[in-house]
Amino acid sequence: MDLRLTPEEIAFREEVRTFIRENLPADIRDRMKLGHPPRKEDTVRWQRILNQKGWAAYSWPKEWGGPGWTAIQKMIFLEENLMAPAPEILSFNVTMLGPVLIQFGTEAQKKRFLPRAANLDDWWCQGFSEPGAGSDLASLKTSAKRDGDHYVINGQKIWTSTAQYADWCFVLVRTDPNARKRQEGISFLLVDFKTPGITVRPIISIDGSHHLNEVFYDDVRVPVENLVHVENKGWDVAKYLLGNERTGIARLGKSRERVNAAVEMARKVNSNGRPLIDDQTFRQRVAQLQVDIKALEMTQYRVVSAYDKAKGAGRPDPLSSVLKVKGTELLQATTELAVDVAGPMATPIWAEELAAMNEPDDMLEAGSASAASYLMLRAASIYGGTNEIQKNILTKAVLGL
Ligand SMILES: Cc1cc2nc3c(=O)[nH]c(=O)nc-3n(C[C@H](O)[C@H](O)[C@H](O)COP(=O)(O)OP(=O)(O)OC[C@H]3O[C@@H](n4cnc5c(N)ncnc54)[C@H](O)[C@@H]3O)c2cc1C
Repeated sequence: MDLRLTPEEIAFREEVRTFIRENLPADIRDRMKLGHPPRKEDTVRWQRILNQKGWAAYSWPKEWGGPGWTAIQKMIFLEENLMAPAPEILSFNVTMLGPVLIQFGTEAQKKRFLPRAANLDDWWCQGFSEPGAGSDLASLKTSAKRDGDHYVINGQKIWTSTAQYADWCFVLVRTDPNARKRQEGISFLLVDFKTPGITVRPIISIDGSHHLNEVFYDDVRVPVENLVHVENKGWDVAKYLLGNERTGIARLGKSRERVNAAVEMARKVNSNGRPLIDDQTFRQRVAQLQVDIKALEMTQYRVVSAYDKAKGAGRPDPLSSVLKVKGTELLQATTELAVDVAGPMATPIWAEELAAMNEPDDMLEAGSASAASYLMLRAASIYGGTNEIQKNILTKAVLGL
């Protein structure tokens, strides 16, 4: 297998890079260059710019407003976007809901929700996990009972990312508590977050940010037209969604961007009276990370293009677990590098003091952001299916043990 990009793919990378450079608003780029996560308005603004270009729904077919790219083009686009650094496209809208509706939705659901999801007119969230159902998702208990032309939802979800911003949520509910197998009694509902009975309670993360939430559903009435696919067949929809969620899961562009940021900072900080960038041990560590990133990039191209050729989309590819495990290990290693370079500046507490400063200090701000990003990315080996679960998948489906 030839692992080099074709001339067309190299030209495509240049086209994407140029577009992002010329169109990413400077204020968003400058904040993100210092290592800050994008704010809600940054994500919305950037996704709308991309949507105008026809790139926001990057993985959808042309018929539904996507660019119709190959798997390699999608990878290149995601990486360039992360390296810019630009806000990531909202995965709940584009990677999760979009493909699910294209595959299972009614015409009315597609027409109503897809264009708005691409343009981020609706902010979606994912209501899957519960206090007793994470890795073992099929044990979920939140119930939906049919009452005329509505379902009535009662129960609790947890770890619902960005629910505080959400207009809509796709929720897994139990519609048949007596089903023979647990997986058989689950349905997939689209819930308008303005419906009475929904309470969102924040969970503050270790970096001090508000990203996660508990969501309580008390007699929440959802029209039956918001059922996706068939009642009690929501597990098929969830499996399809989780297969797509793995697209771009390695987030290599983010690891590359973190290494580049650490190298830039290492030019400015001193170690033993010399710039840290001249330190041999530091240089070896950077080189090792760059080699690991390159190796994973090769693996990613191999896995993704083989999967694309096999037309296996929709069924989770067990090999994507390799990308998840190694990709998140690298994310954690590269954010750790950034923290080590920042040294005593790497403490999130600086954020409040920074706000009170007259003169902005980019080094302090980048140091503080590096700590926040390091802490947040501890969660990368948990969300999207924990790394232990990915290793279970690999031992079974790939190694056949
Ligand atoms: C930052 C973040 C964002 C998230 N966003 C969302 C979201 O938007 N929507 C949503 O629905 N969920 C979300 N989640 C939840 C996420 O999907 C779950 O945390 C994850 O599936 C693990 O479930 P759990 O937390 O219940 O842990 P558990 O499943 O209870 O696992 C606890 C520990 O046991 C290990 N373990 C469990 N089972 C096995 C096994 N069979 N073999 C070996 N080890 C095992 C796990 O690897 C883990 O280390 C988010 C989580 C985080 C951290």
